[in-house]
Order: sequence, then C-alpha cells, then structure tokens
Amino acid sequence: MRSFIIALFLLFNLNLFAQEDLDLSYYLPQDVTYNPEIPKPQDILGYIPGERHASHDQILNYMRALAEASPRITLENRGRTFEGRPLILLTITSEDNHQNLEEIRRQHLALTEPGSEDLDTSEMPVVVNQGFSIHGNEASGANAALLAAYHLAAAEGPEINELLNNTIILFDPVFNPDGLQRFAYWANTNKSENINPDPQDREYDEVWPGGRTNHYWFDMNRDWLPVQLPESRARIETFHKWYPNILTDHHEMGSNSSFFFQPGIPSRTHPLTPDLNQELTKEIGTYHAAALDDIGSLYYSEENYDDFYYGKGSTFPDIQGSIGILFEQGSSRGHAQETDNGILTFPFTIRNQFTAALSTLEAAKEMRVKILNYQRNFYQNARKEAEKGAYVFGSSKDASSAYHLAEILKRHKVEIHELQEEFSKNGETFNPGSSYVVPKKQKHQRLVEAMFERRTEFQDSLFYDISAWSFPLSFNLDFTDEAKMNVAGEKIDSLTRPAVDLPEKSEYAYLMQWHPYEAPKALNSILNKGLRAKVAMQPFNTGNKKFDYGTILIPAQNQKMDSEEIYDFLREVSKDSQVEISAADTGLTGGVNLGSNQFRALEPQKVALLVGEGITPYDAGEIWHLFDQRYDMKITKLDLSNFSRTDLSRYTDIILSNSWGSVLEKEDAEKLKEWVRNGGTLIGYKNAATWLDKNEFLDLEFKDNKIQAKNITFEQRRDFRGAQGIGGAIFEAKQDRSHPINFGYKDDKIALFRDTTLFVEADSTSYKNPIRYTEEPLLSGYISEENLALLPGTVPFKHNSMGRGNVILFTDNTNFRAFWYGTNKLLMNAIFFGDEM
Ligand SMILES: [Zn+2]
Repeated sequence: MRSFIIALFLLFNLNLFAQEDLDLSYYLPQDVTYNPEIPKPQDILGYIPGERHASHDQILNYMRALAEASPRITLENRGRTFEGRPLILLTITSEDNHQNLEEIRRQHLALTEPGSEDLDTSEMPVVVNQGFSIHGNEASGANAALLAAYHLAAAEGPEINELLNNTIILFDPVFNPDGLQRFAYWANTNKSENINPDPQDREYDEVWPGGRTNHYWFDMNRDWLPVQLPESRARIETFHKWYPNILTDHHEMGSNSSFFFQPGIPSRTHPLTPDLNQELTKEIGTYHAAALDDIGSLYYSEENYDDFYYGKGSTFPDIQGSIGILFEQGSSRGHAQETDNGILTFPFTIRNQFTAALSTLEAAKEMRVKILNYQRNFYQNARKEAEKGAYVFGSSKDASSAYHLAEILKRHKVEIHELQEEFSKNGETFNPGSSYVVPKKQKHQRLVEAMFERRTEFQDSLFYDISAWSFPLSFNLDFTDEAKMNVAGEKIDSLTRPAVDLPEKSEYAYLMQWHPYEAPKALNSILNKGLRAKVAMQPFNTGNKKFDYGTILIPAQNQKMDSEEIYDFLREVSKDSQVEISAADTGLTGGVNLGSNQFRALEPQKVALLVGEGITPYDAGEIWHLFDQRYDMKITKLDLSNFSRTDLSRYTDIILSNSWGSVLEKEDAEKLKEWVRNGGTLIGYKNAATWLDKNEFLDLEFKDNKIQAKNITFEQRRDFRGAQGIGGAIFEAKQDRSHPINFGYKDDKIALFRDTTLFVEADSTSYKNPIRYTEEPLLSGYISEENLALLPGTVPFKHNSMGRGNVILFTDNTNFRAFWYGTNKLLMNAIFFGDEM
C-alpha cells in the first residue's frame, strides 16, 4: 500500500512538471509585464530553460542577443578559457546609468580610497556581481542566469526602473564555460523522451572527470586568491575594477538537500572578516527567506558551509569590504531525480536559483546605503589599523618564484616595490632583483595580511576547505614581516621580468643552476633536442661563482650539433625559460671537475599519468597542468580502463596520483613491477602509499592516531571525527640537500602542504630519509593535538630501488592547486634524477 501511494505521488509530481507544460510563467514573478521587443530565452535556444541543459554556446548566443536588443545591457569579453571559450560579462543597469558608467565607477571606487568620508552614499548606486555555476555540473545556476538576464532586460514598470537606477549589476552567466559545456553534453545525451527520475540512470552518473572542474580539472572555486587560472584572472580583474558590494556564487549540493544561503556556521568565519560582514549577510538572508517562502521552497542557513578560506568566491569578497554570498541548491543533476523531497526537477532547481538572484537584488536595493557605508568604513578602518613597516619576500637563488608571487599580488592590485639594496633580517638575506617589498600601510593591507599570515590558533576545529595558505611558504621564499619601509625602492607599476640572455659562446661547456623555477623546462628542451647533459651530484665553483648540487652541465663537444648551433639553441632556451645559462671555458673547477664521475648523464624523460575512473581528478589535473602549462613537457594521460592493454615500455616515468578507491588490480601490480624492474620510475602520491605497500613496491610502517571517542555524544560524533582529519595545513621538513630529491632547493628547510593523515615512519638508515618532518613541524593551519604528536620525525618521501628501476612515494601533494610553486621541483627531481637516487 505504502509503495502504491509513493508511486502515485511520484506520478502526480511528474505530471505537475511535465515538460510540455513548462512555460516562462513558472519562473517569472506574477504581475510583471515584459517588453515584447526583448527576445525570450526560447526564441534563441529553441526551448524553455529547464527542458534541456543549455550549453555554453547557447547561453552565449542568448546573452549576445539580449545585449543587442536591450539598452540596459552591455557585453564585454574578458579573455578565454583553456578551451578557447569567451569569458563574457554583462553590465546591466538603467540606460541613464549606462550613459554615465565610467563616472559612476570612479565615484564608487572613491569609497575605498582616502577622503571617502565626504562622499554622499545616499545618491550612489550599489554594485552587485552575480555569478553562476563555477562548478559546471551544478547547472541550475547558469540556466537560471538565462531567466535572470531576460527579466532584467525585459521587465517593465516602476519596480525594475527603481532597481536599475540604483544598481549596477555585473552579471557573469557562466563562471566555468568548459565545465558547463562538458556537463550539458552529458545530461542532454543521456536524456530520455520520457524523463526517468531513477537515480541509477546513466543520466545522473556523469563520466569521469565530470563537469565540475575546468579544462585541467581544477576546482575553480578555490582559485579566487591564488588566481592561477584564466577564468579567475578575468573575474579578479572585474572585481578590482569595480569593488562590487555584493558578490553571489550560485552552486548545487546533494540531491536530497533543499536550498542553502549564507551565512554559514558562525564559528568558522575567518577572524580577519569583520563581524558586520556576517550581520549584513544575515540581513540579506531575510530577503532570500521571504522570496523562497513565497514560492513554497524549503531552505536553510548557518549550517554545513563556512566563510574561512579566502580562495572561495563567497569568502574572497569578505576581506575586501564586500559581501560574498554562497547559494547551494539540491541538485537534480539531469532533468529530474527521485529524492527525499519527492521528484526534484531541473526546472524547480532553476526557479530557486532565479528567485535567489532576484532576492539578492532586492536586498541590495533596500540595504543600498547601509552596504555602501559598510564598504567605506571597511577601508577607513583598515587604513586606521595599518601598521608601519613592510613585508619583504624573495629568493636570491630563485628570482623566478619570487616573481610569480609578485604576479599574484599585482593581479590583486597590491602595492609592491623593488628592494632598494641588499638587506638581512633574522638570518635571511634579500637582494634587489629577486626580492619585493610590500608596504603594510596600503589599501589592501587586510588582503595582504590574509595572504601572508601564519595561523595556528582556531576557534573551531572543522574547516570546509584548507586551513592555511600562506603564500611565502607555498612559494618557498625567504620572508620577513619586520622590515622598515626605508628598504623600499621604486614602486612597481607594471611588473616585468628582467630579460635573460646567454652572453658568451663556449667551445667547452655550459652550466645551468637548478634553482630557478623554470630550470626543469629548460632541461627538458635540452634533452629533447638530443643534446647530452649531466647533473652535478656535488657542488663546485668556477672562480668566485658557486654551483650548487643539481647544476646541469652541457658539454660543447661530441654533440650532434656543432658549437655554433648549440650556442644559438641554448640562447633560445635561456630566453624562453628565463633561466640563466653560463659558459665555462675550463674543466678545472674548484671542488669536482667537469669531467668527474660526480656528473651523471641524463636521459630525455617520457612521462605518463594514470587517469580515469577512481583517480582524484584534482590531483591528476594539477600534474597535467604543471607539465603542460608551466614546463611545456608532454605528458601522456593513460586511461586506467585500458591499462592491461597499454604498452608501458614507451615511458620512463609513470605517475599514480591520489585516488578515491583502489584503481589497480593485482595483475596491474605485476605489470607495473616488471616495468619498474626494467628501469621505470613509478611515482605515487598520497593514498597510493597503501597500495604500494600492500603490493610490495615499498615497505612502509604507518603510525596510527589511536584516539578513542570518550565523552562524545551521538550529536558530536561527526565533529569529533572531522577534527582528526587534516583538511590542508602547512608543515616544516628538514632536507638533506645532497640527495637528488632536494636538488635546487635553497636551504635545508622546506614547507610542505599536507592534507592526509598518512604518517610514515622514517627508515633506520638516516640517508634514506632525505626529507623528514622537524620536531616542531606545524607552520600554519589546523591539526589536532593527537595528530601533531605523531608527525615529528616521520617522512613525506620514500624511495626504493627495484631491479633497474625506482619506486618513489610522496604522501603530500607537491602540486596543490597550482600555487604551491615551492614544491613542484620535488616532482621534477623525481622525474629527472630518479635514477641517481
Ligand atoms: Zn559547487
């Protein structure tokens, strides 16, 4: 009987949302008239939003049509995704405001500058940046953007006029074009004529890697602070062009959930975010609540999500006088799905998102002056509390990494200066040309503090994302926050890299230090050209120039190219990779001589990366991106589903990144072992550790956190378990610089990003522990006391020789989110120097 009633209920619901009955009136507010001159979404798409999943091309076409038809909208293209899709932005406001837009922007920006106390905010428009579906397979946002843009372009009457007169809307319909395109393809190609809400249908089970991420499988909602991806660069530029007062970020969550809007859990707000930010977020929430009440939709707030990591779209604005707001809609994934709340249809999810987009604008309009004043006060207070002095970061051995951090700061409009002259602080020496000065007293001082600070005390022990991201650590740079401003030289308006050239030709040999960030890119070009190159296992010197472990030697004689060709080629390599190469005219160097056996011959590397179902797309994507974008190195993506048929002999290195489950079978282990014994280097990451141990590639001893749940109630159980995880924190390890895994590092300490609780015991033979956690390893972030007690003396790196090959393990992610420049070289050392270990 019960199942019969459920079946009836399901049928009833299906009919209620039968797609032939779907009409724009399902979404749009009652009692609004629309200008018939403005194209409706179905005029361009050929269907009502919600009937199918709109692809990025279709959304683009519609937005162009709207901009063409409506004087309220202008459209600009701000760049392209990795797959070449335009990153468009619509500016939506009244026709009058459009006539005067640059002046409005100038006045709005003045709120963030000194002298703002005299400005009259009662006459200023509020600026709202609305963005949709940064996770491409959370498609209700981008599909709701079709309706929101239509409404804003076509609605008529005093209400919309009042809104558009008082609001500048920066409208970003698709935050993640490449991901949305992938997802739309999946949902549409698996849609049946008779919509089937069975959650087990293929329609709801997207193929790996899914549409959540961008082209290189990055979660772009973590890149607002590091700004490493083209999509983020466009967004951040818009942000700093306007300093919007509210920024919204429309997502989806699990299908059984209802609708969430921020604020999140109060105790998990970053301490640098002002309390008033959260109070205003809460007040804005009352508008969402009222609008969702009106359409009968369930919702919740102040649970599950937080406002801690500033790299998220809804948190990034909170450190800049703006208010970021996260929306999460229970996902239908495809077109309709059975859930705890009955049949959840795609149109229903779109309607909630659309409703929240409008309630945001309603709140902005009603709270306009309050929110503008909040922004003004934020910057005034920041200026008042600013300390004197400056931060300085740099690396005399690796100017390149320092430059790449400076790039991030410039993207955020942070004021930076050259370093005037050499200076030392707390044992670290900074040099002009490879160091930068960041004044503490500046417009973005709070943002800078959030990027540079180290934090080890927390109000809560749970984090939605990472708990630490200190940039000087992630770039492995020397750093001080105790410099005086008199060390500052000229202010840097446009950041340029000093040109690198190869001044002299040699008939004898060339030398390249391994410290610069791009050195692996240069070496890869050299080896692929067929030139012989060697690596120095020991330091040496020529005259007064010191060459460190890992220096690359390229002899000028007995090569396939003559010395003239070699010179021309190395000059190109040097310019292209920005890495200095110098000429040597004698082998009689201090320390080892250039003909010594302490120089080991290197081979071109052919690297494969295992990908496919089960592999964590983020971790694999970070590696793909590193090779392809940073080092111009080819990497073969080997799909696991073909593994048994794959010819492994083509590869010198195979990388097994972290996975969500076990991805390789017993036969696969045998196949890999044979390949290793024949000379391959197998590199495993994170939870590959247990698989490598179980299949006897490595012999590992793990340390366990044996903490027991005492005095923990049923209600507290999740928090208790969560507190024993490591969501992402930064730890210090000691390096043996003579070991090839550490070649190119500037000193014997390194910061590592760790988001695993795998604690591997050190080997009893000390030189087999070239990287080892220090006695007080916590540099920044949250770790439970119990876990912190286990970490000292354990190792994040293991190497084992097997036959003619090597097995290497990293328990920590050396490539995290493309902003951990400081540890990328560990992977490159494993690739190029694995045979020397
Ligand atoms: Zn999301």
